[in-house]
Amino acid sequence: MNAPVVIIGTGLAGYNVAREFRKLDSETPLLLITADDGRSYSKPMLSTGFGKNKEADGLSMAEPGAMAEQLKAEVRTHTRVSGIDPGHKRLWIGEEAVAYRDLILAWGAETVRVPVEGDAAELIFPINDLEDYARFRAAAAGKRRVLLLGAGLIGCEFANDLILGGYEIDLVAPCEQVMPTLLHPAAAAAVQAGLEGLGARFHLGPVLNRLQRTADGLEAHLSDGEVIPCDLVVSAIGLRPRVDLAAAAGLQTNRGIMVDRHLKTSHANIYALGDCAEVDGLNLLYVMPLMSCARALAQTLAGNATAVSYGPMPVTVKTPVCPLVVSPPPRGTEGVWNVEGQGADIKALCRDASGRLLGYALTGSAVMEKLALNKELPPLLA
Ligand SMILES: Cc1cc2nc3c(=O)[nH]c(=O)nc-3n(C[C@H](O)[C@H](O)[C@H](O)COP(=O)(O)OP(=O)(O)OC[C@H]3O[C@@H](n4cnc5c(N)ncnc54)[C@H](O)[C@@H]3O)c2cc1C
Repeated sequence: MNAPVVIIGTGLAGYNVAREFRKLDSETPLLLITADDGRSYSKPMLSTGFGKNKEADGLSMAEPGAMAEQLKAEVRTHTRVSGIDPGHKRLWIGEEAVAYRDLILAWGAETVRVPVEGDAAELIFPINDLEDYARFRAAAAGKRRVLLLGAGLIGCEFANDLILGGYEIDLVAPCEQVMPTLLHPAAAAAVQAGLEGLGARFHLGPVLNRLQRTADGLEAHLSDGEVIPCDLVVSAIGLRPRVDLAAAAGLQTNRGIMVDRHLKTSHANIYALGDCAEVDGLNLLYVMPLMSCARALAQTLAGNATAVSYGPMPVTVKTPVCPLVVSPPPRGTEGVWNVEGQGADIKALCRDASGRLLGYALTGSAVMEKLALNKELPPLLA
């Protein structure tokens, strides 16, 4: 029998590359392997679930069996790949060897964990997949006070969503502003003010040192001495591309698994896309780039070698209290920011010396200008 095309991961990257491949090739055996339950869902919806009052099941779009049928594929769930053997074109699931024709790594990124002292560390919940979300929802039932660690995009989205779901939010992060790596300070201030208007309390500067049980919940001890009472903790302090198994197999890794514009790793017949991949130096943890990669890679796998390119890829942040769209200037560009507007409505534009638009941050009513501005933005990967 011919060895299958094997995809590790049933997130948006894995399922989309499978779907695109099936449009071009309906015959080659296809095997998807996932450590989780294999349900198809849209991860961005995880930070809208409380506002919409959706259980994990309500966010699931299809069972793995239905996906298998639709994709004419085998889907192996709750199955963790433990190693890759590029020399023999096979991978390991414990003791079991699985041969591949081509191997696609779509195994995502993992939540960064920091050590915390105290007797309640297991009440710190990461929410990075549907099963995490289900666990958190179960733990949060009947609770009121959530401490959020991290003030990045995901931390801010959860803050807004959990408040809509009726929770009290304290947000702790060691940075000076929200979304420090993504956002101009004026736009960050607008988002923070919006969330504060909903009742969120920000503690920017300190980190969580210790989490301690008390008679009626938990006490979070911050590095600046503040003590915050809460019932449970969500960790959204960042994601790190999963590179360990790839590195152990001798594949080149940097921040992510290094691939060229054809999504090819340093080894023949092994490709990567999605959160785990660093494509021509860019590791972008968003849906738009992975969709472009899925389409290009499907072509390549079907015998029509195709390079990926990225146009402008603005990010819409799901903080409904203060709408936000941001397109950071591409790497290696130098520009000057100009900020207009005030309060919740900020238009921050970054232009180069010749006046060309490099990036922007738009909040409040200024997000209406995004379509016009998008036409001026440079591509991220020309
Ligand atoms: C709360 C939240 C909100 C977001 N909102 C947005 C948004 O609004 N817009 C946007 O563009 N992006 C958003 N993102 C980012 C976006 O969701 C991700 O970029 C995207 O879902 C990544 O997909 P992926 O398939 O690469 O990884 P994942 O979805 O993480 O999938 C990884 C898969 O690999 C499997 N796996 C891992 N290791 C192994 C192993 N050893 N063996 C077998 N299987 C393994 C996992 O089980 C899983 O099936 C958000 C992310 C989060 C967490």
